[in-house]
Amino acid sequence: MGLNSLALLQWGSEEQKERFLVPQARGEKIACFGLTEPGAGSDVAAMVSTAKRDGDIYIINGEKMWISLATKADHGLIVARTDPDAADPHDGLSAFMVELNRDGVTSGDIHGKLGVRAGSTGWIAFQDVEIPAENRIGEEGEGFKIAMSSLDNGRYTVAAGATGLIRASLEASIKYAQERKAFRREIGKFQLVQQKIAHMIQSYEAAKLLYLRAGWMKNQGIRNTRESSLAKWFATDASFEAASEAIQIHGAYGYSDEYDVERFLRNAKGAIIYEGTSEIHQLIQAGYALEYRDDVPLRCELPAFDVEIWQKEQ
Ligand SMILES: Cc1cc2nc3c(=O)[nH]c(=O)nc-3n(C[C@H](O)[C@H](O)[C@H](O)COP(=O)(O)OP(=O)(O)OC[C@H]3O[C@@H](n4cnc5c(N)ncnc54)[C@H](O)[C@@H]3O)c2cc1C
Repeated sequence: MGLNSLALLQWGSEEQKERFLVPQARGEKIACFGLTEPGAGSDVAAMVSTAKRDGDIYIINGEKMWISLATKADHGLIVARTDPDAADPHDGLSAFMVELNRDGVTSGDIHGKLGVRAGSTGWIAFQDVEIPAENRIGEEGEGFKIAMSSLDNGRYTVAAGATGLIRASLEASIKYAQERKAFRREIGKFQLVQQKIAHMIQSYEAAKLLYLRAGWMKNQGIRNTRESSLAKWFATDASFEAASEAIQIHGAYGYSDEYDVERFLRNAKGAIIYEGTSEIHQLIQAGYALEYRDDVPLRCELPAFDVEIWQKEQ
């Protein structure tokens, strides 16, 4: 899982990479990322899980909620509070790799989700779970920074997935519009249907360029928080709109599970919530524009268009 493995690649020691990343890369171990809690989602600093240092170990207590692969993972990148007195609560968080077969760890699946039903999502509880101090990733107090860098990577993949969802909605709509007849002609002959398809093409092409730019920046080692956030926000909102219009084009058939488009809509909604809600991405964009003027260029030049990547996408 990118949220975990890429953070390990960036922040882990050589020993930690050997212990956790190599088995992940070989497909021998499954990883999860535990940031969200029952009372703390968008507001990460509100988390109450604790990790208390006791000599060579940390003792973890708390609960993580809405965690992808919670009951399937062998280990997780877990963020917990190490300094309850930090003046800025963001500075009191630290990140740990926790083996989920340790004493005191319990987990369960969350049922009844609107979408993402093929994916496992659940909770993980920690009761006096002892882990060696060498499982801490980075320094004490770097947990928030590490978690945010994980999300830069995760948001990029969510943007790419949502772009694929727009494309799937587009392809399903074109096919149906060419087959279904109303008023003695294919519905694709009507301009109001064509307009919906045109909008999907517009969203698809724009979403693709946004995530390719973020990916190019990653490959160059350039910080891409703003660009990955923008790509994720745009693609997920646009994928929901595209799926909704695809259902409209399918009429009543689209409203049933006889066609894939109803599933597209349910899955699209999930991606608007996880890895930062659309509201949080709007705060990030406005924050960069209004507050961080000195650190980050407001305008980001588009990289030279990479024909090879584009061709692979087709
Ligand atoms: C399928 C799925 C998989 C997930 N996988 C993981 C995972 O692997 N690991 C993990 O750690 N988490 C995971 N999550 C959790 C996800 O990241 C959180 O649900 C998300 O961050 C939102 O938090 P919340 O649900 O607590 O909503 P809240 O933070 O309570 O927000 C509720 C509403 O208030 C809005 N809001 C909050 N603050 C503001 C503000 N300042 N301004 C304007 N609006 C605001 C939000 O946008 C939202 O609309 C997953 C969630 C889902 C649905």
